[in-house]
Amino acid sequence: MKRPRSLKHLPLYVQILAGMILGVLIGITALSLHGEQLVTDWVKPWGNLFIRLLQLIAVPLIFVTLVKGVIGLKDIRRFSQLGGRTLLLYLIFITVAVIFGLTLGSTVRPGKLVNPEIASTLQVKYESSISEKTTAAAQVQSNGPLHFLQEIVPANIVEAAANNSTILQVIFFAVLLGVAALLVPPRQIRPVVWLFDSLDAIIMKMVSLIISTAPIGVTALMAALVTDFRGDLSMFSALGMYALTVIVGLLIVMYLFYPIVIHCFSHTKAKDFLRALYPVQLFAFTTSSSAVTLPVTLEAVTKKLGVSHETASFVLPVGVTVNMDGTSCYQAIAILFIAQVLGIDLTLPQLLTVLLMTVLSSIGTPGIPGGSYVILAMVLTSVGIPPEGLALIIGIDRPLDMLRTAVNVTGDAVVACMVDKK
Ligand code: ASP
Repeated sequence: MKRPRSLKHLPLYVQILAGMILGVLIGITALSLHGEQLVTDWVKPWGNLFIRLLQLIAVPLIFVTLVKGVIGLKDIRRFSQLGGRTLLLYLIFITVAVIFGLTLGSTVRPGKLVNPEIASTLQVKYESSISEKTTAAAQVQSNGPLHFLQEIVPANIVEAAANNSTILQVIFFAVLLGVAALLVPPRQIRPVVWLFDSLDAIIMKMVSLIISTAPIGVTALMAALVTDFRGDLSMFSALGMYALTVIVGLLIVMYLFYPIVIHCFSHTKAKDFLRALYPVQLFAFTTSSSAVTLPVTLEAVTKKLGVSHETASFVLPVGVTVNMDGTSCYQAIAILFIAQVLGIDLTLPQLLTVLLMTVLSSIGTPGIPGGSYVILAMVLTSVGIPPEGLALIIGIDRPLDMLRTAVNVTGDAVVACMVDKK
């Protein structure tokens, strides 16, 4: 007789989905038995622990990935022109994707669909941390125009690393360290290269261990969400609208922005490009990991689109870590959504910080399923939104992750075609 497979063998997304349904059921049961306090005391803390784990890994992850990434650009000397062009294109693409996201999120305003009464209860819950952050934001506004430079350059790296809201300073330090390492003779930095290679492997393992606890975290967060919203369905319609906004944003990037760019700046026809990329997108869609999809992307780009192996083997692996257009577009919408539900009106300087943070932090996002939770928790903190707000969207993240991963890999292929244009 066949033994039933244990829960652990189910794919993670199925476990997360099951966790979400279980969480909703726990929440509804608690509401009907007036056990909300029990959920707050005994269930919600597990969700909060999951979010704390995400926050815990953010600084080491960004630091190690960036240093490793910059040191890895030793190729930039060999491919000096290729490297500069590739990075510039990646930065432009991410910025465009974030701008699409910010525009959509602030026009559709999905977070405003939440019943105002429920939203204000939630705001009271988060009041202390919101007011703390709003004061900090107000202070930012009263600073001089060049003050932001001081926000980027840390006076003390230990102090910067001790605070998730000063992650930009950690990014600055990591890049400076990497660039300095590149300027030292390669023989002398060999042990450091090895060290960061090993650290990167370890940190990635930690990230996947943390993400493997997502089903428990999602169950707890969903249960708490249902009790926090007292079963009010407006939250679910707001979430539906949020998901729809993200999907529309991602489709615009994939089927409007990329084809236009391919048409204008490469030798490939947009139709041929999309046809060649279709299996790659499907693979990315099912695995939700641009890192795992890399070999498939490489093959399609070289064999079907005729990009030289030399170009593809530089541009694509760098793209897996640096270029995440789908992720960036999604993050911008997610941040706006959480802010809208929590009644936080983001000012222009804060929106610009979202733009800058999302662009920079997408570089540190690992190309694995749910890789952007970690980064999102941190970006939220740095723009003055309580990271607990992540609980609002994490339950329905998986399908969005699938789509944004497909966009991420497509973006890498677009840049490969553009850079290869002779
Ligand atoms: N799953 C995405 C990727 O691998 C990263 C993310 O947005 O979570 O590209």
